[in-house]
Amino acid sequence: MIIKNRSIPKEIRVYEAIVRRFPANHPRKAEFENKLSRKRAGYKGEKELDYHISQIDHYNLTILHDLRIPYNGTHFQIDSLLLSNSLIIPIDSKYYAGTLEFYPEFNQMIQYLNGFEKAYLDPILQAKTQARQLQAFLKSQQFSPPPFEPLVAITYSQALIKNPTQNKEVSQRVFKTPGIFYKLSPYLEKYQKEILTDQDVKKIARLLMRKNTPYLPDLKAMNPPFDELQTGVECPSCHTLGMERIHGVWGCRKCGHLSKDAHINALKDYYLIYGPSITNKQFRDFLQLSSIHQAKRLLLSMDLDSSGTKKGRVYKPGKNFDLWS
Ligand SMILES: [Zn+2]
Repeated sequence: MIIKNRSIPKEIRVYEAIVRRFPANHPRKAEFENKLSRKRAGYKGEKELDYHISQIDHYNLTILHDLRIPYNGTHFQIDSLLLSNSLIIPIDSKYYAGTLEFYPEFNQMIQYLNGFEKAYLDPILQAKTQARQLQAFLKSQQFSPPPFEPLVAITYSQALIKNPTQNKEVSQRVFKTPGIFYKLSPYLEKYQKEILTDQDVKKIARLLMRKNTPYLPDLKAMNPPFDELQTGVECPSCHTLGMERIHGVWGCRKCGHLSKDAHINALKDYYLIYGPSITNKQFRDFLQLSSIHQAKRLLLSMDLDSSGTKKGRVYKPGKNFDLWS
């Protein structure tokens, strides 16, 4: 049973917003576009893994995708987690292109791509570390976890996996996404002894859901050129910034498109880039509105929570304001 699906990472939403606001020829635009395209590619690979997991017979497995759990002052992340009464399988998914040579003896994997070689930390070691953290976390919550068997999915379909030292773990734990069933089966057969009750499995799943803390990139730490980012309401039709609010509708100067609610996406961009709080003045500046009253009407028309008075009043996303859709 799949009890937690994967949704678009918040990180992607944040990068989309900032890329949208970069002037076309800004020298740092590419840096953020690259971050965005890497995240999108990784997400695509993870979705593909989810699909192949959903295709295996999983009636006796509890499946949670995309977990990030705070523990010991840091977080550990698990791309997909398969729980049964007798076994826990965390799967780490890697979207790596090129030729991938595994050398677990040296804790490394070498990627050969476009004439370059690059060393990465051995993904098996990484998956094992995550599994150990999950194990320690569950123990700290008074569970006696069953054995762990971490796996590594290579989600880039054209990647060439090599195991030059014929290491057993590489052949047992690393796989191309469509091959998940064949990597999983030996482990499911090996562990038959029930250690967790159905009730325990449910409790663990609920606990992980509750503790899950999605990652949010710290844009400020990347020091983007905040002053040079573009303001204005984006036209939903031609994507030009700078729609005008006339007689209660937004009109595009370029293509003539009319929209009643194009301000909602502009406000989302503001929240994603600058943080989830805005004053009337900031709203006017960002949406290029001149009237304080018009701005107030628009702010009050959305599901926002407000606090403070007069110029200090700030508006934050309300419970039903979906910043991430
Ligand atoms: Zn337009």
